Amino acid sequence: MGRRFHLRTFGCQMNQHDAQKISNLLLHEGFSATEELESADLVLIHTCSVRAKAEQKLYSELGALSALKQRRAGLIIGVGGCVAQQEGDRLLARFPHLDFVFGPQNIVHLPKMIGVADVQRSLRVDYSEDPQERFELPERHPEYTSPTPGRAFVTVMEGCDLFCSFCVVPRTRGREVSRPSASILGEVRALAERGVIEVTLLGQTVNAYGRPRPGRVAGEVAFAELIRAVAAVPGIQRVRFTSPHPIFVGDDLIACYADVPELCPHLHLPVQSGSSRVLSAMRRRYDRDDYLKRVERLRRARADLALTTDVIVGFPGETREDFEQTLSLVRELAFVDSFSFKYSPRPGTPAVRAGLEPIDPAEAQSRLEELQALQRSLTLAAHERRVGSSVRVLVEGASRHGAGQRCGRCPYNRIVNFSSREPVPAGTLVDVDIHGATPHSLLGEVPVKRTNLELPCI
Ligand code: SF4
Repeated sequence: MGRRFHLRTFGCQMNQHDAQKISNLLLHEGFSATEELESADLVLIHTCSVRAKAEQKLYSELGALSALKQRRAGLIIGVGGCVAQQEGDRLLARFPHLDFVFGPQNIVHLPKMIGVADVQRSLRVDYSEDPQERFELPERHPEYTSPTPGRAFVTVMEGCDLFCSFCVVPRTRGREVSRPSASILGEVRALAERGVIEVTLLGQTVNAYGRPRPGRVAGEVAFAELIRAVAAVPGIQRVRFTSPHPIFVGDDLIACYADVPELCPHLHLPVQSGSSRVLSAMRRRYDRDDYLKRVERLRRARADLALTTDVIVGFPGETREDFEQTLSLVRELAFVDSFSFKYSPRPGTPAVRAGLEPIDPAEAQSRLEELQALQRSLTLAAHERRVGSSVRVLVEGASRHGAGQRCGRCPYNRIVNFSSREPVPAGTLVDVDIHGATPHSLLGEVPVKRTNLELPCI
């Protein structure tokens, strides 16, 4: 029997996508996937370091793996992702049963690392010198099963040059590197030929893609041009992207919302705070007014745009008045949803290096709860406004609601739970009549197709 790998991952969408790349790469290397830890020959944990909680989870999982390593001769254990990049040798010293660590740029070198670990315990791996090498990954293996049928993530750029004061990404993922558009389009075409109809373009500051930089590689185009080219690939019916930065939302990108029908009417645009004073301390490079104006222009281009965001509460120095401004901005823009977190000091970030002190934890917790309560009411209101309409849903599979229901996502990126008399396979599009709403999803059903026999008598 061939060798088996067990992969655990936590963190952002980029990390989840990296985990998919790892699985695919290992299939090409002759491994097969296993859900059972005990039967694995290779255990990989792929992690995030944006918040302290994910890092703590990694340490507890690694501690628990020590006993397994003693029982299973030849077991290889590796850790990848941002924590591995940041902690590197410290991780290896703290967990002697760990064989290797590798940062996100080194996924492409995984086969080499496993080869080394087979004969000796390797140290921190940092092979990549050519920043473009990270994109040279194989196409989908025939045995690769996508967790999201009909839908795929495509990395278009990595890294970030902006150095927001709370963020570790520029340290862990490195500086901005864009991938040549020909390589991106080649991947999208191959995916479309395999039945993918929706692609999400991925990057830490995805809409910085292709901006003029020193060392810009041949074949990069502006981000708006890339969207248009991806949308024009035969078979692609939906295009999304994440995560953009507000300062790169310019006229050309806004125009795409007006005239690229494949570009979904949803934008996740992280705001982080509604207070210009806090935004400046966060080094976000825009203020409240600037953010509001960009949203106004976006909504002029696409009136039904569903806007979601990220918010950090309790950033050092955030006063009650600053927080009130966040609440008022969230109310004014009526975000359909948001991810909100308490500020989490991360080692090596500008905020920590400058010695900025977090605010009182109890106060931060109470602000978070207040914001989340407001968001729940806005989300429910947004969902209720959809009741009575019909939305096209990309089917993901069985709904958690049970009772034979299905679920999927509408163009506004909301989860739709629905019933259907006809089979609706995962990865296909279906129109759903919305008849109900909860704070978490839309509820509906696929209308029954009328045949001549069902026409009412007159
Ligand atoms: S833009 Fe700011 S928050 Fe986003 S990845 Fe770059 S440094 Fe981090």
